[in-house]
Amino acid sequence: MAIHSFSVGKIRCVVVPDGGSIMPLADLAGIFPPDPDVQAGILALPDTQGFSMNCLLIESDGQLILLDTGLGTLNPAHSPALIANLREAGAAPEAIDIVVITHGHGDHMGGGVDDAGNLSFPNARYMMTRLDWDHWTGPAVNPAAERCLSPLREFITLIEPDDLIAPGVRALPALGHTPGHIGVVIESQGEKLMDVVDAMHHPLQVAHPTWSPRFDTDPVKSAETRRALLEQAAAESCRLMTYHFAFPGLGTVRAKGDSFTFDAVS
Ligand SMILES: [Zn+2]
Repeated sequence: MAIHSFSVGKIRCVVVPDGGSIMPLADLAGIFPPDPDVQAGILALPDTQGFSMNCLLIESDGQLILLDTGLGTLNPAHSPALIANLREAGAAPEAIDIVVITHGHGDHMGGGVDDAGNLSFPNARYMMTRLDWDHWTGPAVNPAAERCLSPLREFITLIEPDDLIAPGVRALPALGHTPGHIGVVIESQGEKLMDVVDAMHHPLQVAHPTWSPRFDTDPVKSAETRRALLEQAAAESCRLMTYHFAFPGLGTVRAKGDSFTFDAVS
């Protein structure tokens, strides 16, 4: 695993993963709609799809923005790689100005705090949508959300799903995976990247946008979101990034009938 640098116009971007593994297809088998033929077809595929945690470092107008923080030490079996990869990209944790937590799942917010509850990025403004903050700190609270979000209470900036984060960097509503799940759109000098984060977890869902995994909070809404984002990426011929596709998670999308194809950039 390494880092992957690229640019969107004058905005520098670096994919700084927090490690990776293989996506167990069984994890997708609880997919919606619960069609037995679909389930059988998924489980018959070779179980070799890379599964990454593609955090993204964005440098805009002198500010360093980190999109998601990986799993960190939330799961003791995981070896965190984000901080080392950030340093390789030239960004010490103290230098990060903004941390955007796209949603309240452990593999996105786990690296935001350490085991003692100290902020991993001590000088950063942390941002999350109000929708997701309210969801994960409300009745749905679980140990992971408690550990990761409680220390942020006095530091969090609650945003709307389409708010401007920094010049050329805007939140991208991608609701359905969780109530307030967002990606980002980066635009500069006529170039554009859509990072749709967890609007899709596996390239199978590019070919089959209606397929939602069991970990989508609202599988119907997430399917609508997925199709709309793919349609937009294909129509605008812009680069697409996802959090969990094989590192670096970047590619382009083309429409193919009622479906789409994904050409990965290595
Ligand atoms: Zn995820």
